[in-house]
Amino acid sequence: MTDPPDVTVLGAGIAGLACAIACASKGQSVEVIEQAPALTEVGAGLQIAPNGGRVLDALGVTPLSLNSEAVHLIDGTRGRSVIRMPVGPGFRMVHRADLIEALASRAASLGIRIRLNCQVVEIGAGARTVVLRDGTVRSVNRLVGADGARGIARAFVVPDHAPRFTGQVAWRALVPVADAPTEAQVHMGPGRHLVCYPLRDGTVMNIVAVEEREDWVPAGWSHADDPDNLRAAFAGYARPIRALLDRVEQTHLWGLMDHGVTARWTRDACTLIGDAAHPTLPFLAQGANLALEDAWTVAHYWADPVEWERRRRPRVTRALAAAQGNADRYHLSGTKREVAHAGLRLIARIAPGLPLRGYDWLYGADATRNLPSDSKNGKQ
Ligand SMILES: Cc1cc2nc3c(=O)[nH]c(=O)nc-3n(C[C@H](O)[C@H](O)[C@H](O)COP(=O)(O)OP(=O)(O)OC[C@H]3O[C@@H](n4cnc5c(N)ncnc54)[C@H](O)[C@@H]3O)c2cc1C
Repeated sequence: MTDPPDVTVLGAGIAGLACAIACASKGQSVEVIEQAPALTEVGAGLQIAPNGGRVLDALGVTPLSLNSEAVHLIDGTRGRSVIRMPVGPGFRMVHRADLIEALASRAASLGIRIRLNCQVVEIGAGARTVVLRDGTVRSVNRLVGADGARGIARAFVVPDHAPRFTGQVAWRALVPVADAPTEAQVHMGPGRHLVCYPLRDGTVMNIVAVEEREDWVPAGWSHADDPDNLRAAFAGYARPIRALLDRVEQTHLWGLMDHGVTARWTRDACTLIGDAAHPTLPFLAQGANLALEDAWTVAHYWADPVEWERRRRPRVTRALAAAQGNADRYHLSGTKREVAHAGLRLIARIAPGLPLRGYDWLYGADATRNLPSDSKNGKQ
């Protein structure tokens, strides 16, 4: 049996590929194991904020993207602007498939081996082996669990962790558009909101629509739903959104789960990153950004992943809480809604950039700085 690589990464999503690149850049030998037969992503968009963009730059990864000019909060039922908050440079709107392609191409240029069609079905004692679906047992030096919120690595590290249904469901869809403003719009309404922003050359609109609901729907990303259900949920919205939803031909629906921050991210030789460690609700558009930060920083802490977790946990916990708070703010109704919107309209007139300044701690952080500099840090 040949010696295992320094690092085995489980999962070739955003977190896994980014981590593989970061480790290889530090001189470690890396292998990625992915269950899918090909590297593809669901048809959907992502907002990459400056904190995630700094990691992409450090990785040498430049996905096709559109620069965003603003985050625009709109009263969804009346179709009226509430506040348009300009964003500085570094806020990008990216198709997931384009990001995965850019990461994969950078990984290939570094000679990283990605084993496709290899599903890990068991993690052995001490995380020193993984068992693949075909029965192959592979030895591992250090295992990065980047296999997402429902992955086997998460079950290995925190076996008794159970997520909670938030009482919210989300649809996603892409529709063709012309002349879309290069901004992320949040159309707010009682018990629901809809986020949309353009992708690629501005001719595709990414839509994520969230509705509060009692009944449970599955958590996965691939459950097709009838577009009429989406249209019905937003039938009380103003004409532009109804017109946008009229063009939806395909949509997927899933239940949003609150995973909280799990008790630990490392067990034995296995360390979780990205959604495997801390899936976030999508209301702050930070899941992939945090995954990129994890990927870069963990590669600098191989000698002590528990110390990495200790330093990283407060920031991640704060980001997750901030995402949760946004859901409540977007879904206000009655007097609370009128008062909140009036306050934001006032701020829009005097200092439209003010609300986003409250997120300087998030967007302004540079995860690529102030890390242990020893390039041999990762060697066991
Ligand atoms: C509606 C919505 C909108 C979002 N918008 C944004 C946004 O605008 N900005 C942002 O930053 N984030 C956003 N996010 C969050 C973001 O999508 C995720 O945080 C990010 O994609 C997590 O990536 P990951 O690599 O950790 O996990 P995943 O993308 O889940 O990747 C896991 C990989 O592991 C593989 N795998 C799983 N199990 C196994 C196994 N047993 N063996 C082998 N391979 C395995 C899978 O096939 C997959 O390729 C959004 C999320 C949602 C739901």
